[in-house]
Amino acid sequence: MLLKKKDYLIKTNEEIELIRISSLLVGKTLAFVAAQLKPGISTIVLDAHAEQFIYDQGGRPVFKGYNGFPASLCISVNDEVVHGIPGKRELKDGDIVSVDCGVEKDGYIGDSAYTFAIGDVSPEAIGLMRITQECLQKAIDAAVAGNRIGDISEAVQHHAERNGFGVVRELVGHGVGRHLHEKPEIPNFGKRGTGPVLKEGMVLAIEPMINMGVRNVHTLADGWTVVTADHKPAAHYEHNVVIRKKQSEVLSSFMEILEAERKNSNLNTKHHL
Ligand code: MG
Ligand code: MG
Repeated sequence: MLLKKKDYLIKTNEEIELIRISSLLVGKTLAFVAAQLKPGISTIVLDAHAEQFIYDQGGRPVFKGYNGFPASLCISVNDEVVHGIPGKRELKDGDIVSVDCGVEKDGYIGDSAYTFAIGDVSPEAIGLMRITQECLQKAIDAAVAGNRIGDISEAVQHHAERNGFGVVRELVGHGVGRHLHEKPEIPNFGKRGTGPVLKEGMVLAIEPMINMGVRNVHTLADGWTVVTADHKPAAHYEHNVVIRKKQSEVLSSFMEILEAERKNSNLNTKHHL
């Protein structure tokens, strides 16, 4: 039977369960990384450990080799918004560190991200992290069947901007499933009541990227790392959610990450909601 084009966006319950397994494995991987965060550790060591962990759990790191990306994690520190390439850089006290991870298992992908605070982080950066998490929650609340993509977009933009933060325009959330980036695109800025209608069974990676200062960003000469134009910090949180009738269902989880943060005395947990 030929599928109509619009049907490609809707996942079966079986597919949703497979995405859930991969999404939860991403959460476990981010918690595994969280346990190792400390001043002096290099981001390439974190990446190597995470990659091994993913393979040990029967998964495959999908970022590695994606359009030529050289690592399993994106690790973006301070003014780096997303797509930071792990390297020799050592984390230090006062850094905020966004870790983004994608895993495929049994043909389906999970994609989730979390921003951590190392030690004595400024109150302004803690505020940025908290508001970005609130943006994600408001986006999830807006992501119900019958609403439109623009409802998600406006929820993020409104909350970020009323708190004086900049909303990145150049990068967006996306559908997720067999492929890392599927339709529809989910901008973190826009107008409610616009864009595609959300339907039950769509699975979305919702990922506000919020800057403490201006919204403008640029890409470094490495071709990947996106940094803020004013070099103020940025935060990034990402969940995978399935659209349902009254309330969307979050497939990924931060539970184990939160636990790992609390157990790691090098990490600051003041940003917890
Ligand atoms: Mg991601
Ligand atoms: Mg994503």
